[in-house]
Amino acid sequence: MNNVSFLKCIKCGREYPATPEATTCPACGPVEGILDVVYDYSQVKRELTREALAQNQVYSIWRYSPLLPILPQGPRSALRVGWTPTYRGQRLARELGVRELFIKDDGLNPTASLKDRASALGVTKALEAGATTVACASTGNAASSLAGNAASVGLNTVIFLPERAPAGKVAQLLMFGATVVSVQGNYQDAFRLSSQAISGWGWYNRNAAINPYLVEGKKTVSLEMAEQLGWKVPDWVVFSVGDGCTIGGAWRGFVDLYEIGLIDRLPRMLGVQAAGCAPIYRAWKGKGPLLPEEEKTLADSIAVGVPRNSQKALRAINDSQGLMITVSDEEILSAMRLLGRTLGIFGEPAGVAGVAGLKRALEEGLLEPEQSFGVVITGNGLKDVANGIKAAGEPLQIPPDIQVLREVLKKRGIV
Ligand SMILES: *Cc1c(COP(=O)(O)O)cnc(C)c1O
Ligand SMILES: [Zn+2]
Repeated sequence: MNNVSFLKCIKCGREYPATPEATTCPACGPVEGILDVVYDYSQVKRELTREALAQNQVYSIWRYSPLLPILPQGPRSALRVGWTPTYRGQRLARELGVRELFIKDDGLNPTASLKDRASALGVTKALEAGATTVACASTGNAASSLAGNAASVGLNTVIFLPERAPAGKVAQLLMFGATVVSVQGNYQDAFRLSSQAISGWGWYNRNAAINPYLVEGKKTVSLEMAEQLGWKVPDWVVFSVGDGCTIGGAWRGFVDLYEIGLIDRLPRMLGVQAAGCAPIYRAWKGKGPLLPEEEKTLADSIAVGVPRNSQKALRAINDSQGLMITVSDEEILSAMRLLGRTLGIFGEPAGVAGVAGLKRALEEGLLEPEQSFGVVITGNGLKDVANGIKAAGEPLQIPPDIQVLREVLKKRGIV
């Protein structure tokens, strides 16, 4: 990996070699000692040029290998992850009253969430480390993406889930052959048990904040968005926030592109949390320490009461002169319908929270409608059909009778 210089602790600045097994800074501990991958940008710059990318026929995250911490000729997760479409959301832009809006649908990844980007990296690093079993604790998507990517290369998976995980995600896990441990408790309980098991049995650790490489996979969402928009980044890019790794990684992607000269300005980041579980929002707003919260929202993928990567999230918001905002469950359900109706995209609740947050921030006058916006839909709604139906309502129920049909349709103004 001559593109990677070393790993650097974001707290104390100590440097460590970029071995596949690296986790957190031993001096600062597993909570605060998060490691950043530091690249040799002069090397990356030579390989990752606009011309080279224009010629590149690889349409997946591996397209950006020079900016990823992987061995150039090493093993890879075998699923096609990334290169999800970025749509111009004209009708949605009109409804929100903004000039320009782009929607990147990351629910179209192989296991149907943005987490595939991180898991593809995790599985690749596990293969480099010679591991046979990978493990993580997850509210659902990190797990299903890990299980899917692991299955694609024949690795075993052990998954620790909180009880509340939606059935669609549990079905995915079992389908991919994972050993699934449903922990009686919340995400924090599942996380703690997974840490004990992982260190006890020496499995490869795919817990996002602990593993410095996963966030590097997530940054590919920004690399793609920038390339798909002709290297013109929107004024604002919007993400939903749970642990904080996604928005932290996404920001990192834009910074990397800026450093190597592929973009000439950086976007501002808008981070969106659910009102019923918003510890990072409250730490940002109050400029105070992070305090644990209950997990009271139907947006299960961002219901994280004790976030593991608030530092990277807050760094993304602060360095980009961005903002954070919270949205209610009702606003999330309404954003699901809005996105479905105007773009034909079915997102899971956490997947569309960015749309709900953009709408609210515009209503509160925090953003200029004249600016351009990019929103990433982070997960597919078919994973959580129960909430989809809650958002969308029931079909028309009628007997097989054309007269009745006519009356019902008339009432709706359809005929
Ligand atoms: C994990 C996830 C998020 C948030 O990512 P964090 O890294 O936890 O902040 C948002 N949406 C979906 C669908 C997710 O699975
Ligand atoms: Zn440190």
